[in-house]
Amino acid sequence: WYRKGGYHAVRVADSFAGGRYIAQRKLGWGQFSTVWLAYDTRTSKFVALKIQKSAPQFAQAALHEIEVLSAIANGDPSNDKCVVRLIDHFKHSGPNGQHLCMVLEFLGDSLLRLIRFNRYKGLELNKVREICKCILTGLDYLHRKLGIIHTDLKPENILLFSTIDSTKDPIRSGMTPILERPEGNMNGGASINTNEKKLKQRARRAVARIASRRASMGGMIATPKPDNDRCLDGIDMRCKVVDFGNACWADKQFAEEIQTRQYRAPEVILQSGYSFSVDMWSFACTAFELATGEMLFTPKTGQGFTEDEDHLALMMELLGKMPKKIAVGGGRSKDYFDRYGDLKRIRRLKYWPLHRLLVDKYKFTDADAGEFVEFLCPLFDYAPEKRPTAQKCLQHPWLNIKNLTRNEVKSESSVGKVDVGMSNLQIKVGK
Ligand code: ATP
Ligand code: MG
Ligand code: MG
Repeated sequence: WYRKGGYHAVRVADSFAGGRYIAQRKLGWGQFSTVWLAYDTRTSKFVALKIQKSAPQFAQAALHEIEVLSAIANGDPSNDKCVVRLIDHFKHSGPNGQHLCMVLEFLGDSLLRLIRFNRYKGLELNKVREICKCILTGLDYLHRKLGIIHTDLKPENILLFSTIDSTKDPIRSGMTPILERPEGNMNGGASINTNEKKLKQRARRAVARIASRRASMGGMIATPKPDNDRCLDGIDMRCKVVDFGNACWADKQFAEEIQTRQYRAPEVILQSGYSFSVDMWSFACTAFELATGEMLFTPKTGQGFTEDEDHLALMMELLGKMPKKIAVGGGRSKDYFDRYGDLKRIRRLKYWPLHRLLVDKYKFTDADAGEFVEFLCPLFDYAPEKRPTAQKCLQHPWLNIKNLTRNEVKSESSVGKVDVGMSNLQIKVGK
C-alpha cells in the first residue's frame, strides 16, 4: 500500500508544510490515510496529521472531507460542539505522489479501544450517559445547524479527549486521557525551537526514550487479573465525532449504500431513501455497544440467505415485525420480502426483545434495563421520520439518571443508610 497512488511513508521527525509540522508517531490509519501525531511549530501544539493516499479518487475524497470539516469549523468558533476541528490543510509531495493532508486537533483513543480496554464488558451506565451526551451534542450540531449527515457513526469514529491545554506535554497534561498515552517526552511548549535540525534531533531522542520507557514499563496499559474489571474511575468521559470522509449534506447525497454494516439503518438496506435519522440509528447501536460491550447486530450470510436478509431478521427478532408498508416500500424490498411483508427466505424468527436481552444476557437489573430501553427503543423505530432527533434525545430523562457507583454503594451500606431500591444500584459493575 505504500506505493504510487497509495499511502505516504512517514518517518519520525519528517517535516511537513515547509517545516511547520514535525511527525512524532503514528496514531492510526484507515482505508484512505495514515494519521500521525505531529508537533505544530507555529502554535507549539500537538496535532493529528491525516495524510491521504495520493491517487485521484483519494484526493477527491480528501477535498470533500476538507469541505465538510471547514463547514464544521466555521460554524463552531468556540469549538465546543463535540466534533473534531480542522486546523489546516495542505498538499505534500512524496515518492508515491501528491498527498492531501489535513491537520486536525489531536484527540485520544477511540471508543472501540475503550470497549476493548474494558474487556468487552460494557461500561458503567453513568459513563455511557456522559458519552451519549457528547455524541448527541455533535449530532445535533451537524444535523440542525449544518444539515450534514455523518453516515458512518460507530465507536471507532468517536475519539476521547480532554480539555487540557494541548501546548503542554501530552503525557503530563493528560492529553490522551487514558488507555495509552503518547510515550516519551515530546517536549513542546515554551522552549520551542524552530530550528528544524534541532527539532529533528529532539524528536529522534524522544523516540529513543519511548523505546526505553516502553521496555521498562511494559506499556502503559497494566494487565489486569482475569475477570477483574479494568478501572476507568476518574476518566473524563468526553469525546468527539471524527472521520467525515463519508459525510454528506442531506440535500446532496452521493451514495446509496452508506454506514458500516453493523450500524446500518433498515431504510438503507431497503433503499427507501435516508436522512439524518440514519445517524440516530447508528447512535443507538453505539449506545448499546458501550453499555454491553458487544455489537447489537452482527449479521452473517447463511445457507439460503444473504447478510442483508439476516440483518433484517435480527432487527425483527429484537424489535418486532417490520410494518408491512415499510417492509415493501423500498427499492430493494422485493429482494427480501414477499408481498405480505414477510421475509422470503428466513421464515421462522426467534423473538428476543431488547429488555429481555439486557436482563438475560447482559445481567442488567430489571429497572436499569427498563430505563435504558425507554431511551433506546424510539431510536430503533423502523419509520425513520418517527425516530427522535438528536435535539429531542438530549432532553431524555435517561441521560440525567445517576446510578450509584460500586464505591458509593459500599460506603453507603457500610454506614447503614441504604434506603435506595435496587433500581438505583448499578450492580453490573460489582458483579
Ligand atoms: P476510514 O477507513 O475509517 O475512513 P480514514 O483513512 O478516513 O479511515 P480516520 O478514520 O479519519 O482515517 O483516521 C484513522 C485513525 O487515525 C482513527 O481511527 C484514529 O485512530 C486516528 N485518528 C484520526 N483522527 C485523529 C485525531 N484527530 N486525533 C487522534 N487520532 C486520530
Ligand atoms: Mg475511520
Ligand atoms: Mg474516513
